[in-house]
Formats: sequence, C-alpha cells, structure tokens
Amino acid sequence: MPLTPLHFGLNTSVGIIFKKYINIPMCVLSNVIIDIQPFLVVFFDCKFELHGFSHTLIGGSAIMLPVSVIFGLIRKKITKQKISIVSYILGGEVGVLLHLFLDSLMHSDMVVFLPFSDFVVANEHTKKFVNPVWIAGYILMILLIIINTVLRIKRKP
Ligand SMILES: [Zn+2]
Repeated sequence: MPLTPLHFGLNTSVGIIFKKYINIPMCVLSNVIIDIQPFLVVFFDCKFELHGFSHTLIGGSAIMLPVSVIFGLIRKKITKQKISIVSYILGGEVGVLLHLFLDSLMHSDMVVFLPFSDFVVANEHTKKFVNPVWIAGYILMILLIIINTVLRIKRKP
C-alpha cells in the first residue's frame, strides 16, 4: 500500500534544513513520483512487483535523475529565472533516499540494495521505528516552519 503522506514530514524537514542546496518541492515531490509503481499495482492491478525496481537505490535514483532535470528545466523555462538544476537533482535524490529509508523499515518485500545484495531491511524490530520516525518528521517540519516564519518576520524592517 503506498503510504506517501507519511513521508512528507521527514522530506520537508530535510528540505528546509538544506534549503540552500536542495530544492524543497522536488524533495517532497519525489515521494509521489517514486510511489507511482505501488500505486499502479494496488489501484490498477498492474502486473509489477509492489515495491520492485522503483524501491531500490539504483532504480529510485535512476527514475528521479531525469525527472528532476525535466522539472528543473520546465521551471526555468516557465519562470525565466536563474535556477540551479543541481538543486533539483539533489532534491530528487535526497527525497528518494529518505523515502527508501522509511519504506525499507516497514516493507518486507523491498530489496533496496538490489542487484548487489538481497538483504531485506524490514523485520519486526525495524517496523517499531516507522511510526516514531514519521511522527518525528512531522513535528520537526512544524517546528522548522514556525522558526523560519518567526525569523522572516523579525528580518522585515
Ligand atoms: Zn514507497
């Protein structure tokens, strides 16, 4: 089952912390993009593995690299602003890594290190960490948004 909303807090928090280097929307959007495969399997009964290629380090990174570049180029074209494509790539890749980290704790069908290892991260112990991690991500996100908002208000003359 794709549980995309659980990832938003952690990804947004990391995006805010490293906002000088990574594109925050791309870091958050990568959660939705990488869960397209499980979404297709669950809702359209597609004959893929639930968390197959898209939920491996190589597969997820390979999917997000061109997607991040395309999104960056589209934004650059639409806004005519000077945009760092590297920040889009970093946002997409960091977002995928965080997504795979959280998913690998809970999904026993995920073999995140394929083709180098068939090690499955998830077990009864790692599954206990899933709820605290995503809840902490949301709490951190709320705190960071409040802190950033207060700092912006204070900077204004
Ligand atoms: Zn996922």
